[in-house]
Amino acid sequence: MSSLPQAISDQPISTMEYRSRQQSSIISDVPSQHLFRSLPAVSRILEFEEVQALINQTSQELVVEAATVILDGLRRAISEGTISEEALKGTLPEIPARIAALVDEWLTPSLRPIVNATGVILFTNAGRSPLSRSVLEQAAEVGQHYSNLEYNLEAGGRGHRDLHFEARAKRLLGCEAATVCNNAAAAILLTLNTLALGKKVLVSRGELIEIGGSFRLPAVMEKSGAVLREVGTTNKTKAADYRDAIDDETALILRVHPSNYQIIGFTERPEISELVAISRESGIPLFHDAGSGYLFRGDQPFLSQEPVVSESLQLGSDLVCFSGDKLLGGPQAGLILGRKALVDRIRKNPLMRALRVDKLTYACLEATLREYQTGSYRDSLPIWKMMSLPATDVKRRAEGVLEGIASLPLEAELIEGFSVPGGGSAPEEQIPTWLISIASKGLTPNQLEQQLRRSPTPILTRIENDRVLLDLRTVFPEQDAVIVERLGVIYRSIAE
Ligand SMILES: *Cc1c(COP(=O)(O)O)cnc(C)c1O
Repeated sequence: MSSLPQAISDQPISTMEYRSRQQSSIISDVPSQHLFRSLPAVSRILEFEEVQALINQTSQELVVEAATVILDGLRRAISEGTISEEALKGTLPEIPARIAALVDEWLTPSLRPIVNATGVILFTNAGRSPLSRSVLEQAAEVGQHYSNLEYNLEAGGRGHRDLHFEARAKRLLGCEAATVCNNAAAAILLTLNTLALGKKVLVSRGELIEIGGSFRLPAVMEKSGAVLREVGTTNKTKAADYRDAIDDETALILRVHPSNYQIIGFTERPEISELVAISRESGIPLFHDAGSGYLFRGDQPFLSQEPVVSESLQLGSDLVCFSGDKLLGGPQAGLILGRKALVDRIRKNPLMRALRVDKLTYACLEATLREYQTGSYRDSLPIWKMMSLPATDVKRRAEGVLEGIASLPLEAELIEGFSVPGGGSAPEEQIPTWLISIASKGLTPNQLEQQLRRSPTPILTRIENDRVLLDLRTVFPEQDAVIVERLGVIYRSIAE
């Protein structure tokens, strides 16, 4: 894309519009008329063999549109005097290739896989948890056929879509009932709207959080129609603060996991068990927004501060909600587990119709929970595999990448560092890892970071102390080769 006039990549314009522009420019710029005449007509371009082949592979309409855009760009360049006769001559033979490139750009998916070499495992902007192939295969099976989504095959009539997920959740976590909606924010909205419309919800001042992407808990609560009743102070909230705040208007006690930040120092908040006691004595349900969906306590030291869903249910939380695509390692969803009477009411809320999930999400959720049922989730769900990958394994792969780039004009070494869980989970926690640290020759760290990011398969990295760092913990092993290849292309092109 070297000598292309800027105009070529501009917005496409309609044929009518460009004809009128063409006429006006011919009138105002008579000397360049012979240049305009040297441009082939669209009909002539369509006769080229390569262009015919492109039409066969794609569509005539797309190709005509691309040809029109490219010719228009050239016409504009001529009328603005930004292209010389010489340059124009050189450009004409390239027109078919430029058409092909433009059509390709239009047809390439905008949402596509990238290489996440940042070491942030639940990288929200990069799609949070990647799904395992077996989970996606189940979704593909369900998605490409009709399914029993809402069909009760036993009784031969209408069923409920939650059943597919609920049975597994109940068996796995021992809850009475479970439902699913679009994400955890929706779960909070639905639950408060169902159980506390126009009533008070008690929540600790220290738990009024902004999750990210400007999602603020108090704002969502307000939209639900519930009335926020803050208790305690930012750093200290005691069980007595909840007790004292309860009155006839109180409908719910809300406990929020302040996922993405920590209050340290002079702090206090009640244990779940204390809130359960208050809930039991007052008859007011306890709703726990557990955030990340850490189902069972494991041996990961970096998750020791995360609320555990099974523990919260066992302790007696009436409802627990969490995201499907954080530590659960599944699709985007908001899961609500707990007492049947409460879940039934939530399910019947008309808002549920607006916030429910489709068959693909149910299929992915079921398949994800199945991995927990068999106990194989640590080896099969990508984020769990990444979290439990020993640093020595990361190092071994990084050594392979170093070998692959040994001949390039850059200075690369392995250094010890940390990966992070991300996604608002365990904000202070770090997972020991090995990093490929690159001091570039001929490119600044920012330039290298940008070139990697703008690769055909984009590669995300981080910069620290003037070095570009790559953490292979969050890179799928088959993508290691993409990194080697791309660094090769980048450095060979600057060496030229
Ligand atoms: C992440 C998070 C949410 C929002 O979850 P989404 O699924 O992204 O809507 C809500 N509450 C807590 C505590 C969280 O950690």
